[in-house]
Amino acid sequence: MTQETTVPAVERTLVLVKPDGVRRGLSGEVLRRIEAKGYTLAAVQLLTATPELLSQHYAEHVGKPFYQPLVDFMLSGPTLAVVAEGQRVIEGFRSLAGTTDPTTAAPGTIRGDLARDWGTSVLQNIVHGSDSPESAEREIALWFPSL
Ligand code: UDP
Repeated sequence: MTQETTVPAVERTLVLVKPDGVRRGLSGEVLRRIEAKGYTLAAVQLLTATPELLSQHYAEHVGKPFYQPLVDFMLSGPTLAVVAEGQRVIEGFRSLAGTTDPTTAAPGTIRGDLARDWGTSVLQNIVHGSDSPESAEREIALWFPSL
């Protein structure tokens, strides 16, 4: 049996309930799952993204075939931006979210349980979660400049 000798680091991550999730009334369900896991909500804000914000947030995807559809989708309505805090929350939230493609996301995950209309695209997958401590700090600064 493995024994933990150190307490896992408390981290912050950026979670987005994307426009499909907000439109479908899933914001509360996503927040409930975050809190049920034991994470803390450090900041929450409903806003509609701008092309400038998205070009920075999704900088690594600029130029890819799915980039413009992704931007159009993210501009299609309000997004709920959340800063969640807790031990190893970056990896932990991505585990709650499930794989990028909802068709293969495991049951019990947000995407696995709740994604709909995903037959031809992985675009509308309800949530975003930062993928590393560096991404988390960069993304939190973009969506919550006053934090
Ligand atoms: N996406 C897409 N087609 C792809 C890959 C990604 O439409 O082939 C969208 C999808 O909404 C995804 C987002 O672009 O959540 C960002 O992609 P990333 O690979 O960073 O996945 P994530 O970290 O969100 O799981």
